[in-house]
Amino acid sequence: MVTAYRHEPFTDFTIEENKQAFEAALKQVKDELGKDYDLVVNGERIHTEEKIVSTNPADTKQVVGNVSKANQETAEQAIQSAAEAFKSWKKWDAASRAEILFRAANIVRKRKHEFSAYLVYEVGKPWKEADADTAEAIDFLEYYGRQMLELKDGKPVNSRDGEHNRYVYTPIGVSVVIPPWNLAFAIMAGTTIAPIVTGNTVVMKPASNSPVIAAKFVEVLEEAGLPKGVLNFVPGSGGEVGDYLVDHPKTALISFTGSREVGTRIFKRAAEIQPGQQQLKQVIAEMGGKDTVVVDNEANLDTAVEAIIVSAFGFSGQKCSSGSRAVVHEDVYDEVLERVKKRTEELTVGNASEENVYMGPVVDQGAYDKILGYIEIGKEEGRLVTGGKGDDSTGYFIEPTVFADLDPNSRMQQEEIFGPVVCFTKAKDFDEAIDIANNTEYGLTGAVISNNRAHLDQAAADFHVGNLYFNRNCTGAIVGYQPFGGFNMSGTDSKAGGPDYLALHMNPKTISEKY
Ligand code: NAP
Repeated sequence: MVTAYRHEPFTDFTIEENKQAFEAALKQVKDELGKDYDLVVNGERIHTEEKIVSTNPADTKQVVGNVSKANQETAEQAIQSAAEAFKSWKKWDAASRAEILFRAANIVRKRKHEFSAYLVYEVGKPWKEADADTAEAIDFLEYYGRQMLELKDGKPVNSRDGEHNRYVYTPIGVSVVIPPWNLAFAIMAGTTIAPIVTGNTVVMKPASNSPVIAAKFVEVLEEAGLPKGVLNFVPGSGGEVGDYLVDHPKTALISFTGSREVGTRIFKRAAEIQPGQQQLKQVIAEMGGKDTVVVDNEANLDTAVEAIIVSAFGFSGQKCSSGSRAVVHEDVYDEVLERVKKRTEELTVGNASEENVYMGPVVDQGAYDKILGYIEIGKEEGRLVTGGKGDDSTGYFIEPTVFADLDPNSRMQQEEIFGPVVCFTKAKDFDEAIDIANNTEYGLTGAVISNNRAHLDQAAADFHVGNLYFNRNCTGAIVGYQPFGGFNMSGTDSKAGGPDYLALHMNPKTISEKY
């Protein structure tokens, strides 16, 4: 008997005991840094000379791990291994597949701080963000396991006299999973186990910035009893290995999360039929965002300021859901801006493997350069209110930055910056605020801070985003509570962590018997 799903609680680091436990995990992981990790194909470890060297973005000399790097030959072996394993894995009963997820959840839960500590070192997460990332990974395991149990007998359909009809879900085949580095544990784990629990086999290519946490998760699934070949692990370059896996005629499903640029490229390539291909490829593509916090004139301004800060600067603004735009009613614009400036200047920035800071670094040199480039554009397009400086002498640190008075059509208000930068735009009334909020090519998340019920109802109808939040931040969706996915160029709106997600990994089959 499986208990009802409840999300994994977050750790309260103001409790001394929790703080000490986390510091101990950081120390333990520090002692383990620099290990080698291999490819895993058909259960075999493959060691390569060429490596992805994963380093700590807060201290770039610190090597987190050396990860073997796949090429097209090993990618081919991985696809063949997944295709072979599919023949038997698809016949496993759903309850046994779900059981592996429940076991994996228990393994991760028991070593929760250890996994979070790896996230601190590998992608520079502050403690709270790392803890939430690990909790979400556990949630995906628990939630998708239970969802599979609900779907295992299919859905009811009508039958007539002398005829019995059934509607059941069947696995699709070899699934290529390509996650991003930002929710380095949760999204990587969630997008890997969804095809697995639904009876598919997987070739997973982790993001090159976060291959170590992915290698650790592969070990967890092995320990939980996943048979060899069901999950094949091929870290490697997006261009070389990614394209090869996407194009492969045996690839039946692609689950991608990442940028609009790569997502649309995959969508297009997946539509090309390759010689020997027997089925249309199904594509789940969850992509970028340009997300807005709207502040009404009838609003609790404490809530508004906190919502803007948390949405903009959580994990240095490196979430697809980050609120990089604040659209504020002119009556309260100056006050909200001033209070956000003050709060921003109080935020602590530093190396989270040494202290519990609010904000760590950005992920790599490319991100650092890109964000500083946008800050220069911001100085031209708007007014720098606070922040704006970077320091990459030891790690990739950028101050939390606020710009004011941006035109809604400016580059700063249209393009995904993916860093700790929030841009303010003034609206003359609530109608205009919603129009501005909708004025991007994305449609992922949004928040409205208002005490006016009619305005909240208006936003519910008109604010065109996949995840809309009232009187809170626009980040931090919880599995099973706030299913996640976006409209427009934010993706296929698969709603990860929701009741419809697993069905996207299966083909429904109708069986009709006459007697
Ligand atoms: P990215 O550059 O698009 O990379 C995502 C993944 O795609 C990585 O594993 C990357 O590998 C791989 N890749 C790169 N080129 C490829 C190709 N030609 N074929 C196949 N795979 C390829 O994105 P990111 O920088 O990791 O993540 C940040 C982006 O993800 C942001 O735009 C953010 O908004 C979005 N995101 C969206 C969601 C959502 O649910 N909507 C959630 C999280 C993040 P390499 O690392 O080896 O390049």
